[in-house]
Amino acid sequence: MMGEFSLRLSQLPPYLFKEIELAKTRAIEKGMDLIDLGIGDPDQPTPGHIVRAGEEALKNPVNHHYPTYSGMPEFRQAVASWYKKRFKVELDPETEVLTLIGAKEGIGHTPLAFVNPGDIVLTPSPGYPVYIPATIFAGGIPHLLPLKKENSFLPELETIEEGILKKAKLLFINYPNNPTGATAALDFFSYVVEFAARHSIIVIHDNPYSEIYYDSLSQPSFLEVEGAKEIGIEIHSLSKTYNMTGWRIGMACGNKEILKGLLEIKSNLDSGVFQAIQEAGISALTGPQTCVQEMRDLYQERRDVLVEGLERIGWRIPKPKATFYLWIPVPSNHSSSKFAQFLLEEVGVVVTPGVGFGQYGEGYIRMALTVDKERLKEAVDRIKGLRL
Ligand SMILES: *Cc1c(COP(=O)(O)O)cnc(C)c1O
Repeated sequence: MMGEFSLRLSQLPPYLFKEIELAKTRAIEKGMDLIDLGIGDPDQPTPGHIVRAGEEALKNPVNHHYPTYSGMPEFRQAVASWYKKRFKVELDPETEVLTLIGAKEGIGHTPLAFVNPGDIVLTPSPGYPVYIPATIFAGGIPHLLPLKKENSFLPELETIEEGILKKAKLLFINYPNNPTGATAALDFFSYVVEFAARHSIIVIHDNPYSEIYYDSLSQPSFLEVEGAKEIGIEIHSLSKTYNMTGWRIGMACGNKEILKGLLEIKSNLDSGVFQAIQEAGISALTGPQTCVQEMRDLYQERRDVLVEGLERIGWRIPKPKATFYLWIPVPSNHSSSKFAQFLLEEVGVVVTPGVGFGQYGEGYIRMALTVDKERLKEAVDRIKGLRL
């Protein structure tokens, strides 16, 4: 090869889903009928009215040019109106909303605007895998915040050492949480705001699952709490709410200065979101929201089928209040990777090993509710026959 990979690539943590992906490929080659509960991607199509809005916009030559870096004013206004209606949060669409090429893009780019080499970024473990590379690419050092069952999968911020806190620049949080399915109440967010202000730490709340909640227990925005806008941003996305993962559209909302930094990075690296997709996004946010309730009803039914089915075979897991994930402890004689591999090879049920979400994810597997209920019932039947 012409050159070695950069140091920053060699600093990335090992990719721990490789083993399970290989095992999956082998199983498919053998012709096994897999039930894939490993996928964090909605199986349902984007609602028709949103697709049609995108289609119309696609035909309009106005949209065939470079979009603005910060996003169409109409999209940012739609985001502001949605936040007002949904969370009673006031946002200035001009300065407090930024269009993203999906939440992942915003997460990846924000540290580049604020983290200097050697600065610490506080990241939950287990957590969405992108927080760590985003930190490393900026020259920062991830400091893991264990999310433990005994703390309801909330980080114990008060136990972080003073020396770490002095060097900490950013804090990532994510509730409703991937992969644990945990939720956080407003008093936790208030505590985060107070803590972050005390230590001059920027908060990035990653909130793509706020609409995927059950039993009518609607989940909050971080920006609802007083002072949040002074110290942080919330990154949101249309991916999970409107089955739009393939379209790539999200938004960052909150503190003007943080958004200014993020925009500075973005305007040097990307050229915004295709306007036809932003038009589809406007239709999603301002159109009828019945599709969102139907989505919740669908996942709730699947959640109940899977949790109650597993309960009948002796696996007792609480029903998550939000997200489409179940976070399940593995039998004590297995590691998460070995157990995931065992389920795959023995009965063709694909799950995600918890360790892939960071070292504190060890001891768990994640199941996603992104397959229909008949297949979930079959997964339970297959697991029932196993000797663990
Ligand atoms: C799915 C997901 C994202 C990414 O969303 P996109 O908008 O599709 O990039 C970000 N964070 C978490 C925790 C997720 O699960």
